[in-house]
Parts: sequence; structure tokens; C-alpha cells
Amino acid sequence: MSPTVQHITVLGSTGSIGVSTLDVIARHASRYRVHALTASTRWQELLQQCLQFAPCFAVLAQPEHALQLQQQLKAQGSSTEVLVGIEALKQVSAAVEVDVVMAAIVGAAGLMPTLAAVQAGKKVLLANKESLVMAGHLFMSAVADSGAQLLPIDSEHNAIFQCLPADYPGIAAAGIRKILLTGSGGPFRATPIDQLAAVTPAQACQHPNWSMGRKISVDSATMMNKGLEFIEARWLFDAQPEQIQVVVHPQSIIHSMVEYQDGSVLAQLGNPDMRTPIAHALAWPERIDSGVASLDFFTLGSLDFERPDFDRFPCLALAIEAAKSSGGEAAVLNAANEVAVEAFLQGQIGFTDIARINEKTLAIADICEPSDLATVIAMDAAARKLATEQITPLMSSTRPQ
Ligand code: NAD
Ligand code: MG
Repeated sequence: MSPTVQHITVLGSTGSIGVSTLDVIARHASRYRVHALTASTRWQELLQQCLQFAPCFAVLAQPEHALQLQQQLKAQGSSTEVLVGIEALKQVSAAVEVDVVMAAIVGAAGLMPTLAAVQAGKKVLLANKESLVMAGHLFMSAVADSGAQLLPIDSEHNAIFQCLPADYPGIAAAGIRKILLTGSGGPFRATPIDQLAAVTPAQACQHPNWSMGRKISVDSATMMNKGLEFIEARWLFDAQPEQIQVVVHPQSIIHSMVEYQDGSVLAQLGNPDMRTPIAHALAWPERIDSGVASLDFFTLGSLDFERPDFDRFPCLALAIEAAKSSGGEAAVLNAANEVAVEAFLQGQIGFTDIARINEKTLAIADICEPSDLATVIAMDAAARKLATEQITPLMSSTRPQ
């Protein structure tokens, strides 16, 4: 019997995860139909995707881009309707026709549309880790209330999910000792620490194993990404921070592991290609072809492991500390980090300033335990302001060009 057709909205379809998602979908045209595609500004790329996948809706952030896209689509005989803005993102995430939502917008901008999909009880494929970092408790409560099915796309969390029992009853009841969250250590794992201040955005975005968007690439270079993933794992698997351990594994072949009380360690391995977790989550509990090549153990060489170096990666230490507290710290850290990473990518601050801004923002922000979304959004906005105020003085100080 052929599977029923699943209607899917891809939030952030022009990004790295969005493009990989559409690659997997294109391999299984009889299983998936695209309901909506969304992008921030890159309307020409969205146009090409609309012509290939013929969604009912396309969503852009700016009216002028939407107008251009609509005109081009009309000229090419497409019936895709173009919408604009955050309300439209929520609409295409929660629409009654939609079965699955791929949440692949980068940063805090992903929170509201992802939450709309959760509240509408969809199958939500979560790439946008920032929404869990910002509002983990509220987000997971919304999942429980609506009965949404939340499947992790982040390769580590997808690996952990694959190593858990099918009806996961929680860490203790499943007999789990710890979750081993692996990370490559990024491009500067072995760079002398005194050279880190001089690294450029291009160097920071040159990840040794993964091809990703620019924000997550910089987060990988500071290991903030592993810190955000630590917080993400805490919420996804209902784990205490002391039950999660970061293990540096430079080859990115083991995507994470789960250690059980009897000493068994289950790991998920594969080539570093996001189409594997995407295909896994799309078809779960079935398996489908992702287009990813077999892992060749004969050319693999060795698999290495190291302890994380918190002096080299202060952002990782900040995030693990934030994971131990109320939840407000994580939202503040996430907001400060988005501002700092963007400033670094714009050439306004140096690489090591990112950690400085994050640390200082955490120290001076007014932080409380967020009991509702409005509080999270207010804390996010206040933290962005505090972080932004630190950028101008750094711009005038001596820093590498
Ligand atoms: P990306 O920068 O390549 O793409 C981001 C997408 O979001 C684009 O389609 C962009 O148009 C859209 N977008 C950006 N800002 C927006 C806004 N304000 N409003 C609406 N849309 C907006 O990012 P990516 O690497 O694909 O990452 C996406 C998410 O997936 C991030 O949360 C990241 O942490 C997570 N993730 C990515 C990878 C990876 O391999 N790339 C792996 C694990 C998790
Ligand atoms: Mg990851």
C-alpha cells in the first residue's frame, strides 16, 4: 500500500536546511506535496523553488520582494499565492491542510511560526534550535497541550532520538546514565588561542565537516552552537544539565550517543550530511532514501575524542551555565549572541568579542523566569539592546580587518 500524501510547509526554504529538505522531498514526489515555502529576502531563489514545487503559498518578509515574486510567478503561469510577514508565516504553519512543518528559519525569528505549528498540533521537524533555547519550558508545554509530534532535525538530537527507546519514558525510567552530545570543535579547535581575536568571518564560516548557514557556522566556531544544543537537549529529552556531557569528536561521524545504566553506549553514525536527519524525521517511523552516500569504514581512518576546552570556547561554558538556571538566562544569551554574531559577520567586531558581549549582557541584563511568551519576547528585546550598545565602542577600538 502506498503511503498517504503528506502536505508540508518548509519555513526557511532558501536556507541550508530548507534546500536539503527540498532535495529529500524531490526524491519522494509521491509521498510529499509542498503546501508553502518561505524566505526572508531571497525572492529569486524562492521563485525557482516555487516553479519546481508548485506550493499553494510563498511567504516573504518584505512587501516589495513579495510584489516582484508575485509578478514573476504570474508571468510564468504559476498559481502560487504570495503572502507577506509574520502573520502569514503563522498561517502557513497552522493551516488545516498541512500535516508537517519543517521549522528551518534561523534565530529568534523562527519562534512564533514554529510555535504556531506546535499549537496547531502538527508534526514539527525542529531545526530552529533557538526557539527551544528561548522558550524551552513554554514550548514543550505547548507540545504536550496540543499533541504535536516534535522530531529533532539537529543532527545530534536526531542521533540521540534514534538511540532512545521508541516510547521514551524519560531519562531515569529508560535506564539512561547520560546523553553524550558530540561536537567537532569547529575550525579553530587547534588554533593557538592568542590568534583567535584575528580570525575573519570567512575563516569562521569555513567549517571542516558541515556546510551550513552563516550564523550557525559562526556558532560552531565559538562552540556556542554546542551550548545552544546543550540547552536544546535539556528540553527535548527532559534531561538535567548534569546528565548531558559534551564530547569533542573532530570527524563528525558519530552524531551523538546515549549511555545506559548497564554500560551500553548506543551511537548513531553517518556521513555529515543533514539530509540523513531530515529524511529520518520526515518519514519516521519509516525509513526513506536521503541521497546520502554510505559511510565507508575502510577510508574513515580513526575516530577521535577530546574534552571540550572551556578557555578556548567561553561561549560553551556560558550556555552550560545558562542551562542550569531558570530559562531566562538562555533567552538573554541567545539574543545577545544573535546580535554579536551578526556584528561579527558585518565586520564590526572581532571574533573573541562575541563571547565578551554574551558574557557582559548576561551579567547586566534583568533576568527572570519567563512564565509567558510576552516575558520571553521582552527579555529578548532588552538583551538585544544591551548587546547592541556594546558594539559601537568595540568598532572604534583596534581590531583586525
Ligand atoms: P540559513 O541562514 O542557511 O537559512 C535560514 C532561512 O531562514 C532562510 O531561508 C532565510 O530566508 C530564513 N530567514 C532568516 N531570517 C528570517 C526572518 N527574520 N524571517 C523569516 N525568515 C527568515 O540557516 P540554516 O543553516 O539553514 O539554519 C536554519 C536553522 O536550522 C537554524 O536554527 C540552525 O541552527 C538550524 N540547524 C542548521 C543546521 C545546518 O546544517 N545548516 C544543522 C542543525 C540545525
Ligand atoms: Mg547540530
